[in-house]
Amino acid sequence: MTGVIPILRTVTELRDRVRGWKRAGATLGVVPTMGALHDGHLSLVRAAQRDCDRVVVTIFVNPRQFDSPDDLAGYPRSEAADAALLAPLGVDAVFAPGADQVYPKGFATSVRVAGIPERLEGLHRPGHFDGVATVVAKLFGMTQAERAYFGEKDWQQLQVVRRMVADLDIPTEVVACPTIREADGLARSSRNARLTAEARAVAAALPREMTRAARAMRAGMPVPQALAAATAAVLAAGFDRVDYMELCEAQTLLWTDRLDSPARLLAAARVGGVRLIDNIAV
Ligand code: AMP
Repeated sequence: MTGVIPILRTVTELRDRVRGWKRAGATLGVVPTMGALHDGHLSLVRAAQRDCDRVVVTIFVNPRQFDSPDDLAGYPRSEAADAALLAPLGVDAVFAPGADQVYPKGFATSVRVAGIPERLEGLHRPGHFDGVATVVAKLFGMTQAERAYFGEKDWQQLQVVRRMVADLDIPTEVVACPTIREADGLARSSRNARLTAEARAVAAALPREMTRAARAMRAGMPVPQALAAATAAVLAAGFDRVDYMELCEAQTLLWTDRLDSPARLLAAARVGGVRLIDNIAV
């Protein structure tokens, strides 16, 4: 069914809606987002619609996962455009609560996963993954969804959510979806809208050099050498800074220099004041 999508603002409205669906025997999939939707998000919606009878997209710019007030203030918000993108897909509801719904007065709980969040993004964005784990646990509790759809684009986030779900016996199944990219390889991201034309032209160097490094490692180049070459090439292409460029075990995200079990190349780098992250299998 396509048309106008109900936008639910309160947990009560959401629960009422979900109760009706469940009573009718429907399965529910949830796609958690921060809005400013693009093809990456829409691919998660389509995956959810393939597997589930009902699909809710949540749009909430979660203040607890931003380590910088400027980043939070500058995060793109475009609810009307988001609703227009979702309408043709026939999503069953958008849940777009205000912060007072998610964190009402007296709210005092934080979910902290140990280990995985202490590396990579966690080192550069203190508290970020506590905010992510807390809001995802809440969204799972609010929606009671059977399945939740996450992008591999945020690989470390995906592993944090999987760890939390396993550790807390949360009955929601976490489904991972591949990263959607622009024609030149740049991963789709809400933050790409902030790139100037000049920075946008440079940005594709990140996935390009990561792909080159992965190929070199597979061909036998020592891992530290391949990582150093990729970092140098990204800087030479015009990036201002590389926060990290690391090879890690795919699930634990522990540093590795071995390719005999699943490994992931993860990077974060800044161009024109915009911080981009990416990751690929090696
Ligand atoms: P965000 O709105 O950036 O918090 O992202 C919401 C969800 O969409 C997360 O699970 C992301 O991993 C996923 N996502 C973001 N960008 C992409 C992309 N380019 N391809 C696939 N999934 C994505």
